[in-house]
Amino acid sequence: MHSRNSVARIIIALCVAAAVFRPAGAQQIDYAELARQSGEPRIPNLTIEYLHPLGNPADARHWKHIIAHQTEGPPGSARSLALQQLMDPTKRGVTIWVETDGTVFWSTAETAIPTHGDGANRNDNTYVDNSKTYHVVVRTNSLGVEFVGNFPDVRAPVTPAQMSAWLALLPFLQERYGIAAEHIYAHNWIDFKDPRYCEGCELAIAARKLGYVPGRGNTR
Ligand SMILES: [Zn+2]
Repeated sequence: MHSRNSVARIIIALCVAAAVFRPAGAQQIDYAELARQSGEPRIPNLTIEYLHPLGNPADARHWKHIIAHQTEGPPGSARSLALQQLMDPTKRGVTIWVETDGTVFWSTAETAIPTHGDGANRNDNTYVDNSKTYHVVVRTNSLGVEFVGNFPDVRAPVTPAQMSAWLALLPFLQERYGIAAEHIYAHNWIDFKDPRYCEGCELAIAARKLGYVPGRGNTR
């Protein structure tokens, strides 16, 4: 029979073993705490430059969806596009721009509403049930993220660095605004777009596969 002391020693040994043998790369990240921060929160595994600091997320409750876009512009253009957005926040564009090397530029105040999307005009249910998106998933309630680099070939996929950045950014955005994975869309899923390629599709598919669940107090 174990004494109380030896049981305690076994428990401590198990805890140490669990800490030592945690799989490589696994991190305990408290996104809920991180997502409440203002200013320039550092998001793990992400290079992010804030051209405008974040405020109080309670003032940006209008974000109910996230839309993944591709600019059909060249590599190297994300920073200048983000700067243009900063100068004129409601112009055609988005809040967040992602360079081909994975650097993320947060362009405007999170309360600003850039002009993106085309009014959610898609209604053919090709990719998702458009009865939930038609004239619903629009710029006033959807946070836009643009990925540069599919020029001159619009079919060029996002880079691995862009995909990694997207997946590192999403838990922060989803937690900050309370957005479930099923409210993340490719632009092509909600508007009729360029038929040569599927804008944002691989990004939205990956986001839904990631399946981050906000508000669960989870760490990952
Ligand atoms: Zn778009």
